[in-house]
Amino acid sequence: MRNFLASLRLQKDNPTFLTAQFQALSSQIPILYVLLIINALAVAITHLQSAPLWLSCYIPVGLSIVCIFRLCWWETRGKDITAERAYRLMKVTIAGACILCVAFGGWAIALYRYGDAYQQGQIAYFLVVTGISCIFCLMHLPLAAVLTTVITFSAMVATFMFSGNPVFVATAVSGLFLILPFLRVIDSYFQNFVGLVRLTEELKQKRAEAEDLNLVNSRNALHDQLTGLANRRSFFLSLEQRLQKHPSRPPIIGILDLDGFKPVNDVFGHAAGDLVLKETARRFTALVGEEGIVSRLGGDEFGIIFPCSMTRQAIADLGQALCAAVRDPYEIPDGSVRVFGSCGIVYPDAGEYTAEDLYEKADFALYQVKSKRSSGVEFFSAEHEKILTQRHLIELELQAGDFARELKLDYQPIVELKSGRVVGYEALARWDSARFGRISPEAFIPAAERTAVIGRMTRILFAKALEALAIIPRHLKLSFNLSARDICDHETSMALLAMITRSGIDPRRIEFEITETALLSDFDTADEVISMLRAAGISIALDDFGTGYSSLSHIHRLGFDKLKIDKAFVMNFDRDARCMNITRSVANLCQNLGIASVAEGVESETIAEGLKAMGVRLAQGYHFSRPLPLELAIDYAARCDAAAAARNSLSA
Ligand code: C2E
Ligand code: CA
Ligand code: CA
Repeated sequence: MRNFLASLRLQKDNPTFLTAQFQALSSQIPILYVLLIINALAVAITHLQSAPLWLSCYIPVGLSIVCIFRLCWWETRGKDITAERAYRLMKVTIAGACILCVAFGGWAIALYRYGDAYQQGQIAYFLVVTGISCIFCLMHLPLAAVLTTVITFSAMVATFMFSGNPVFVATAVSGLFLILPFLRVIDSYFQNFVGLVRLTEELKQKRAEAEDLNLVNSRNALHDQLTGLANRRSFFLSLEQRLQKHPSRPPIIGILDLDGFKPVNDVFGHAAGDLVLKETARRFTALVGEEGIVSRLGGDEFGIIFPCSMTRQAIADLGQALCAAVRDPYEIPDGSVRVFGSCGIVYPDAGEYTAEDLYEKADFALYQVKSKRSSGVEFFSAEHEKILTQRHLIELELQAGDFARELKLDYQPIVELKSGRVVGYEALARWDSARFGRISPEAFIPAAERTAVIGRMTRILFAKALEALAIIPRHLKLSFNLSARDICDHETSMALLAMITRSGIDPRRIEFEITETALLSDFDTADEVISMLRAAGISIALDDFGTGYSSLSHIHRLGFDKLKIDKAFVMNFDRDARCMNITRSVANLCQNLGIASVAEGVESETIAEGLKAMGVRLAQGYHFSRPLPLELAIDYAARCDAAAAARNSLSA
């Protein structure tokens, strides 16, 4: 009941509902007018003869004209209306509906006494039909529906009750009882309507939320959240779009990479690192301008699509400006930091390219700057193209090659400097491809890593190493190089261990050489694998020490058995004081930590003597022997032993 009474009030504070209510009404009310006009005219026509003209003609025609006006008015309303106006119009509608009801009801009752029994029956029918039409057509405006129902039914009941005709009295009484169910119908319909409007509104809200979410998602999908720049995906999409749009004018792109960003992150924390990246993004965007696109490809790598109208010289200048912009100090809460930038650029001639081609070329040029250990700008050149083509050919050949037959190992003796005796060998991979002949391991090992062939290759090579160990004299060890991927892969390391067990070779005769790059990609897995291998009795050497990160914490945490001093220092030892100092420092470091050191790349007697004086125990290099086929390597060791024995007997 309370609900019903509440629904009679217009919900002034619910604008959405008011407009929905008004719109529903505006589609129903015209029908009501049509019904009223038809019914009234039907009554008027049958009373033309019996009732005065003003009552049977003028009044119904007048009322019908009013109804037609209202009908036209409603037909033109209701599409776009404010809640406030809807509220006002509905108030007018309630009043209007009551006035019209009173007018039609009064008119019908006035006619009542002029008709015979049939005509009086028609009046009763007119009142009931009008009442029911009002109920159905005004259901969205319950107060109007209730008032019109009450007015028409009361008019009918009052008239019939006092007619003296028992049939009419009975009709009046049953009509009286009809009001209640009708009110109930109005109420339940209106409650349903309220629910429907609420649901529609909720649905609209949900759809709007979903659209917002979609917008955010698609923004996130194409933008880097930290810097607000386009992300990697967006960079490649833009490249593809440009390639499609202007196939004859491929886009000019640059890949920029920050040098020294990682230490900023490590020392000052990620918040400082984020500040540097954001500021870099700002500096790049300002320099490249509106016509180009700056993207963050990931980490500290940025991709730039230059405006295609720029000349080669202008691009070179802009590249330099971008690198210079990176060199400016960055303000962070703890002070200021400096980083450097390198840039690889591809300025493509007309031709067919994919987005990946362009990226690979720019990235290759960048790699060239970095491998020179400098920062600056490098354009992708014809020379680079040759190397890249070779790289692709090798990658292709790697998929096709019969490794088991084409791969072999050479063995470079590792010599004890003091005694001149061979203590072991380093196994070095050789690939004699059926198509290209001998390919350097420096070319095919990285290619095998890129194409994920490395695991299979390592197993094939290691099987050959184990076969060799069965022949090599028992007092000699064998060092075997593992790639970064092998050491971060449980499957390969488990396979290697299983192979050792099957071969029956003493694991203490085996040493694995790994480089620091392996530790950078996935330290935890590398740590686990190294511990497992050491637990099995295999020793682990850190290769190329001094060229990579040369982190003391790596040596400390992973407990290496040996450090191999990189040949870049050893080879230039006698010509470059810096190289000598580094070699000496590493040798001292190893002595202090109690781990062995091996100097590689010993090419002269002077260097061998110098190393010995520094306390380096082991060495390998062309001065002693180049990498040799197995039989020759074994012969070499025997000759060294014989020479050492001869020296010993002489000195004795
Ligand atoms: P690395 O492990 O540093 O191997 C030493 C490289 O220095 C070898 O080159 C060796 O031939 C060369 N070398 C030895 N003594 C001298 C010298 O006195 N002077 C000069 N200039 N060079 C010397 P190589 O055989 O071309 O191997 C190159 C690299 O390829 C190796 O560097 C290693 O990183 C990788 N590699 C070789 N074999 C394998 C392998 O079986 N598996 C894996 N994963 N990598 C391998
Ligand atoms: Ca090595
Ligand atoms: Ca090495």
